[in-house]
Amino acid sequence: MTKRINSTNSITTQGMLIVVSGPSGVGKGTLCNILINRVENLFLSISATTRLPRVGEIDGQNYIFMSHEVFEEKIRKGDFLEWARVYNNYYGTPKDMVYQQLREGKDVVLEIDIQGAAQVKKNHPQGIFIFISPPNINELKKRIIKRGSDSKDSIELRMKCAADEIKAALDYDYIILNDDLNQAALSLQSIVLAERCKVSRNTKILQKLREECGDDVSVHRLTY
Ligand code: ADP
Ligand code: 5GP
Repeated sequence: MTKRINSTNSITTQGMLIVVSGPSGVGKGTLCNILINRVENLFLSISATTRLPRVGEIDGQNYIFMSHEVFEEKIRKGDFLEWARVYNNYYGTPKDMVYQQLREGKDVVLEIDIQGAAQVKKNHPQGIFIFISPPNINELKKRIIKRGSDSKDSIELRMKCAADEIKAALDYDYIILNDDLNQAALSLQSIVLAERCKVSRNTKILQKLREECGDDVSVHRLTY
């Protein structure tokens, strides 16, 4: 059994936004689920979509499924942190849910497309942007087919979009090659844990320790 990483290992007080993108079928969902099961204090955002549920998908668990009309009303009301039209459907991240989790100190994972990621980067540049890449295009197609949930037309459309999506990888902070699933999952987990340890995300605890030492409360950089 995989050891869960205790949330007390993190000394950050405000949650991070972790954006995961990549072409359809590359393994984003699979990797994000492994991440959530291994690392504590993470919340996987549940997106809204106008796409029809696949067999086995549960409303409110995999996605919040809704009509085009309801989705467009939510766009007008500003309910989304980001939204985009992807493969002929709307997809969007409910703003309130994400902000509430971040306020509670949870790190929030958004599994979203490249257009949505660009919107998040503009408004939350301090987020962590991770791109999942396939080992090659043949394998990508095999995985979409193996998943067995998309029509022939949908598979073709998803493959056509893959080239543009891969180009966008240059705008991300990290790239993970999802060839061997265990290696890729370990890389994703390592990125999240390393980001949690950044000094810039932990200044409050340093200030508190210095106060306890009776030191000046402003945190200085080390100079050598
Ligand atoms: P995405 O969420 O990116 O669309 P999924 O997580 O649904 O992709 O994965 C698509 C298919 O590929 C699934 O059947 C999944 O089990 C499989 N898969 C994911 N990662 C790997 C991997 N490293 N090697 C082989 N198959 C994989
Ligand atoms: P799928 O239909 O395979 O579940 O998802 C299709 C694409 O939509 C994937 O690239 C997925 O990352 C993206 N997606 C899922 N949820 C959202 C969202 O809330 N916003 C955006 N912009 N894209 C999303």
